[in-house]
Amino acid sequence: MGPRKRGARKRKRSQDALVEEDSQNTERKADEEEGDGRRKKKKYIGAHVGIQGGVWKAVESCLQMGGTSFALFLGSQRSWKRPALDPSAAEKFRVQCSSHGFDPAHIVPHGSYLMNCGSPKEDVFAKSQELLVDELGRCHMLGLRLYNFHPGSSLGTITTEQCVEKIAGAINHAHQQIPDVVTVLENMSGQGSTVGGKFSELRGIIDRVRDQSRVGVCLDTCHAFSAGYDLAAEGGVKAMLDQFDQEVGRHYLKAVHLNDSKGQLGCHLDRHEDVGKGNIGISAFRDIVNEPRLDNIPLILETPGRPGFEYAEQIELLHSLCEEK
Ligand SMILES: [Zn+2]
Ligand SMILES: [Zn+2]
Repeated sequence: MGPRKRGARKRKRSQDALVEEDSQNTERKADEEEGDGRRKKKKYIGAHVGIQGGVWKAVESCLQMGGTSFALFLGSQRSWKRPALDPSAAEKFRVQCSSHGFDPAHIVPHGSYLMNCGSPKEDVFAKSQELLVDELGRCHMLGLRLYNFHPGSSLGTITTEQCVEKIAGAINHAHQQIPDVVTVLENMSGQGSTVGGKFSELRGIIDRVRDQSRVGVCLDTCHAFSAGYDLAAEGGVKAMLDQFDQEVGRHYLKAVHLNDSKGQLGCHLDRHEDVGKGNIGISAFRDIVNEPRLDNIPLILETPGRPGFEYAEQIELLHSLCEEK
């Protein structure tokens, strides 16, 4: 996912370099004040941002779109082996985060799509296990506490139970190598033989993790809907969270991915849509941003962000739906 263009306010730029610099400073200040105001509402809404040009650029991108939380990849999505993270880049990232008031609890790196920690193929499992350790190590260097990834897939050749065992094994192994970072399992749409479409499967993985203070869940609204959790129904958000509390446990919820869905309820397709433009619909998102159980939890967009309705506009819309308490 590439970096998003700046919001409407930022497009009105002067050609003159000096004025430009001045207006950038004013904009930055306005962004920060906006961020402070938004933090007071306890709703930490942001988006997945790019890291082109350096990992620290993610912070600036988030500020520009008025976000108070963000997700990022930790390296190329195409390669299993990546150059080590430069300690000075990591330092720059940490300084940027703290100087702009970002709490590590609101930054949720997304794991590589190449990984399948539940793979029945030994070579893929071994490479995935190694990449998981590498990515947790990067989080640690960046001063981050959360790391979100897709649990894995049985490829239809082993049972769900065996797949769950493997995933938990990879997590336990990574926890032994790298301290502190919490591995956050993302719920899936239940496409093919992926594990994690049902809350009970996520609970199954958690049950097998030795240090349960280091495991959590990221709820993706599009995935939940396409897996069959009816967020579009009246009271659907509350019902889903009640079920989550019962089957997984509220304190495991570490993040939410805010995505509408192109697909229908229970279609098992992972097709993200812009907020309010899909089959989940805007009223579910209103319920989400007004749900006290989601206070202080990062709410992160991974939507297409079409021209005119990019991340900045979607974040603004979501804040406009927050009712005053
Ligand atoms: Zn994901
Ligand atoms: Zn997601």
